[in-house]
Order: sequence, then C-alpha cells, then structure tokens
Amino acid sequence: MPAYDPNNIFARILRGEIPNRTVLETEHTLAFHDIMPKAPVHVLVIPKGAYVSYDDFAANAPDAEILDFTRAVARLTRELGVDLDNGQGYRAITNAGEHGVQEVPHFHLHILGGRNIGRMIDPA
Ligand code: AMP
Repeated sequence: MPAYDPNNIFARILRGEIPNRTVLETEHTLAFHDIMPKAPVHVLVIPKGAYVSYDDFAANAPDAEILDFTRAVARLTRELGVDLDNGQGYRAITNAGEHGVQEVPHFHLHILGGRNIGRMIDPA
C-alpha cells in the first residue's frame, strides 16, 4: 500500500483548506458534489480518516468508521433521490491505483445517477 499523501486534495478539503459543496456530513464521513460531474447526480463519499483506497479502508478502518460510512451511503442515496424506493437507481464506483485510474489518493466512492449511466465499462 502506498503511503497516504496528507496533501491530496480531499485531505485539504477535510482540513477546510479548500471549499466543497457538502451534501452530508457525519462523525466519520463527508459527502460532497464532484467538481466535474459526469451525471446529473455525481457525489463523492469519503471517510474522514486517512485511507488510500477501498481495500485500505476495508482492511484497516475501525468498525465504527466503516459502519458510519456505509450508513451514510444509504442516507445519501435516499436524500439524492436515487435509491430504489424513491428513485431509479445509481452506480457506485471506486477507483484504486494505476489500473483503476485513481486521480485522488484518498478513498472515495462516486455515486452517479439522475440518468441511465450506461454500460459498466467501455470495451478495451
Ligand atoms: P478518481 O479518478 O476516482 O480519483 O476521481 C477523482 C474525482 O475527484 C474526479 O471525479 C474529480 O472531478 C473530483 N475532484 C477533484 N478535485 C475536486 C474538488 N476540489 N472538489 C470536488 N471534486 C473534485
């Protein structure tokens, strides 16, 4: 696992050094609008703790942080109107490392919705 870079842009958002459009904040989790949205709904969900990737978070975060993050996703999909009780669905994506084409090395989940998101990946 690469060392966590404390100067990545999401760490700076968490420290309040650069602004964000917050959608939801809980004890351990922050969700905010992506600055370059790829769909009518494009929200990023991040843990407040320092984790590089989903596997880093899943392996190393305390249970309370994982529970908080997971429940925050459920709240968010409802509040964004993309959950399957009230809306028409969404895609959740997380990118890791070079092959995942991860730009920001702080674990984040993209929630995309508000239209049909299309097939999962482009054929190579
Ligand atoms: P990824 O390729 O999964 O690392 O995605 C990084 C995402 O962060 C991209 O969708 C960017 O548009 C988004 N992003 C980068 N800087 C910011 C920022 N300051 N505020 C909100 N989203 C950002």
